[in-house]
Amino acid sequence: MGASRSRKITILGSTGSIGVSTLSLLEFAAAKGEAAFEIEALTANSNVADLAEQARKFKPKFVAVADPRYGAALRDAVAGLGIETGAGPEAIEEAAMRDADWVMAAIVGAAGLHPTLKAAKRGADIALANKECLVCAGDVVTAAIDEAGGRLLPVDSEHNAIFQVFDFDRPNRVSRLILTASGGPFRTWSKEEMATATPAQAVAHPNWSMGAKISVDSATMMNKGLELIEASHIFPVPHEQIEILVHPQSVIHSMVEYVDGSVLAQLGTPDMRTPIAASLAWPDRTPSPSAKLDFAEVAKLTFEAPDLDRFPALRLAREAIAAGGVMPATLNAANEVAVAAFLNGDVKFLDIAAITEQVLSDVARSGGTQTLTTLEQAVAADKEARRLAEERVAAKAAA
Ligand code: NAD
Ligand code: MG
Repeated sequence: MGASRSRKITILGSTGSIGVSTLSLLEFAAAKGEAAFEIEALTANSNVADLAEQARKFKPKFVAVADPRYGAALRDAVAGLGIETGAGPEAIEEAAMRDADWVMAAIVGAAGLHPTLKAAKRGADIALANKECLVCAGDVVTAAIDEAGGRLLPVDSEHNAIFQVFDFDRPNRVSRLILTASGGPFRTWSKEEMATATPAQAVAHPNWSMGAKISVDSATMMNKGLELIEASHIFPVPHEQIEILVHPQSVIHSMVEYVDGSVLAQLGTPDMRTPIAASLAWPDRTPSPSAKLDFAEVAKLTFEAPDLDRFPALRLAREAIAAGGVMPATLNAANEVAVAAFLNGDVKFLDIAAITEQVLSDVARSGGTQTLTTLEQAVAADKEARRLAEERVAAKAAA
């Protein structure tokens, strides 16, 4: 991103952890004279106070909340600023359709699917944090980006790392992708200990500060399962050649192994402003306020194989991607429902993977459609898995 090039930027999910990191990076880059940008649109689910504060500071042309009950409050909060407002899921899609060159897709969950697709279809570059939309409908999203001529710029730190060292001209020379995982807050916990884990313990990630849902996903390691499926959509590498490696220091963000045995990695401190900066400036670089690595202080990098017995979510993700069709969308939706129920105190920590597994077998048993090539099929699979998961949650909560 040269100082000469002014860009129009939209952030879907601007009040979340990734949204705030993106605005922080933009502010830093602008102060350094490195970025000329205008904010086209900012969106949130219901956090009017934070969204209005961002609007006063960054002067977007449009702001929207997904929850229609907050539309009036948003209108009042930005009154007099000359900013258009909207409310409801259609308003989030409207934000995505407005003219921005670079769209940060940072909504959490499959709720990000439709808005991300709208931005993709008009050819915007998609900085993609919202991994769930790829897990739910990866082929649909990547085809939409390709057809409209935008670029998919992966923001998830592992995928951004791989993107930086992947030889897209010679994908057949790649022998393995190695996705690193911190192991989360329960890396060393026994199953018995995990059985009584509280939401507060599950969201206390050792290295990264993130939204509640992805923090719980890191604790179950479903996050790495979702990332395996995400990687298979972003990089032309069969899922069997994507490995997961626990690396508790979160210094190596992921690696690519080539046929000659060379392994290329991207390293950095655990601060999402580095991968966001890389996707904003790509193929250039732009300064980021992230702390630089101090290797002597880190001193030691360690690695462990993941434990599929204590972290069954990893096995479920492997099984879902191997089965293909509606199974990844089913995995994602069931997990979203189970994580929300856990955060709400309705089910226990180990129930998250148990419910997800039950829903996957319900869907496998009922046969369902085993192909998923259209948006409608993805939406139907997501809806059915949510219905089945809600039933399982209700049964657990009543037990
Ligand atoms: P978060 O919960 O902090 O923020 C989510 C954002 O989405 C908020 O702005 C929220 O208002 C909005 N939102 C929530 N539900 C919505 C809905 N139904 N419709 C429209 N908007 C809605 O989450 P986060 O940690 O910033 O994560 C965002 C995405 O990025 C997730 O997919 C996550 O897996 C991915 N990701 C996050 C990190 C991280 O460090 N936080 C790292 C890698 C990937
Ligand atoms: Mg990640």
